[in-house]
Amino acid sequence: MSAADPKTLAERSEEIYRDYEFTTVRRWKERTGGLAIGYMPIYVPRELLHAQGCLPVGILGGGDDLEIIRGDAFYQSYICHIPRSTIELGLNGSLDCLDGMLFPAICDVIRNLSGIWKLKFPDKLSRYLDVPQVFEPELGGMFYRHELEELASELERRGAKPLEPEALRESIRVFNENRALVREVYDLRIREPWKVPSAELYVLMRAGLVLPVEEFTAMLREYLDGVRADEDRKPMDQARILLTGSFCEQPPLGLIKTLERAGCYIVDDDLVQIHRWLLHDIPEDGDPMDRLVQAFLDDSMESPTRYIDERGKGKELVERVEGSRAEGVIFCAPSFCDPALLDQPMVVKAVEKAGIPWTAFKYAENNGQFQVIREQAGTFADSIKLWSGV
Ligand code: SF4
Repeated sequence: MSAADPKTLAERSEEIYRDYEFTTVRRWKERTGGLAIGYMPIYVPRELLHAQGCLPVGILGGGDDLEIIRGDAFYQSYICHIPRSTIELGLNGSLDCLDGMLFPAICDVIRNLSGIWKLKFPDKLSRYLDVPQVFEPELGGMFYRHELEELASELERRGAKPLEPEALRESIRVFNENRALVREVYDLRIREPWKVPSAELYVLMRAGLVLPVEEFTAMLREYLDGVRADEDRKPMDQARILLTGSFCEQPPLGLIKTLERAGCYIVDDDLVQIHRWLLHDIPEDGDPMDRLVQAFLDDSMESPTRYIDERGKGKELVERVEGSRAEGVIFCAPSFCDPALLDQPMVVKAVEKAGIPWTAFKYAENNGQFQVIREQAGTFADSIKLWSGV
C-alpha cells in the first residue's frame, strides 16, 4: 500500500479544525453515546476523561472564521480575543454537542469565563480545574488528586462510566502511544523542517484536539509515513526560528504561513501545547491516578502559567533554542495576554544573555492582515542569514 499524501491529510485536518459544527464530535456521540467534554487551553487530564468513556474536545477559540456578534459584550476591550469567540461559539449553538466544559487554571480571563459559562449554560457541566502551583506530592499532589477525584465523580453523576484503575491505566497507555508519535513528528521537524511545514503540523495538531485519540494516532502514523516517502520536499535557505508566546489563544493559520513564506523554518513552538505538555510517557505501572498526578507535578512543560522558582524564567527557552538548533526567537503572543507578556521581559533578558537574536510582535486570533508581520519576520530571517555567527 502506498503512503498517504501528507498534503491531503493536512487538507482534511484543516477542514476538521475549521468545522465549528464539530461534525466529528457529533458523529462520535451518535456512535458511542458517550459524553463529549470541551476544555480550554492548556492542560487537562485527557486520560481520565478517556478512561470514563468521554471524548475530550479541545476548544481553542473561534480563529479567524467567526464573526463575533454577542461575545464582545462580555469582555472589556483590553482583554484578549479567545474568551469572546468561545462565548460566541457557546451562544450560537456550535458547542451544543458538548456535555460540559473544563476551564483549567491559566489566568483570570479563563477563570472569569468559567463563571460566565455557569451562568449562561446552567444545565451543562462547567468546571474550573484548579491545578497546583506547589509541586511537592504531599501538598500539590494531594490537592490535585482530590481535584481529579472530584472531577471523576462529577462526570459519573452526568452519565460517564465510573473511574476504574485498569481503565485509567489503559487510557494512559493509549495517550503514551499518541505522545510518542507527536514527539516523533516534532523531532523530525527539528531535523528536517522542510519535510514538516509548520502550517501542516499545526492543522494536524488542531484536528487532534477534536478527534478520538485512537484516530489521531492513526493519522499521525500516516502523516509520518507520507512525509518520509515524499521526495519532493527539499531543503531551502530559511532561518531556523523558535516561536514562543502562543500557548493559549492561537494565531490565525495565515500568520504561520506568512512566517514560513517570509523565510522562517519554525523548528519549535508553543502552539496547541496540550499534545506536548507532558514531556515523557506516564509510567504504566503502579497506581495510575498517582502516576497521572505525578506526571503533572514533575514532567510538565515550563510555562508562563506555571510557577517557576529557582531555575529562573527564560532558562528553559534557552535550552529549547539549543535543543532545536534555532537561530533566533520570535516572541509571538496574543494582544493583552498577561501570562505571556508579563514573562516576556524576563525571558528576553535570558535570551539576550545567551546572545540569541530575537524579535517580537502580537496578534489576535482573527487578524487578517499580515503584511507588516511578513516584512518584520522577513527582515529578521534575512538578518540571521546575513549576520549570525559573523
Ligand atoms: S490568551 Fe492569555 S490572557 Fe487570554 S485567556 Fe489565554 S492565557 Fe489568558
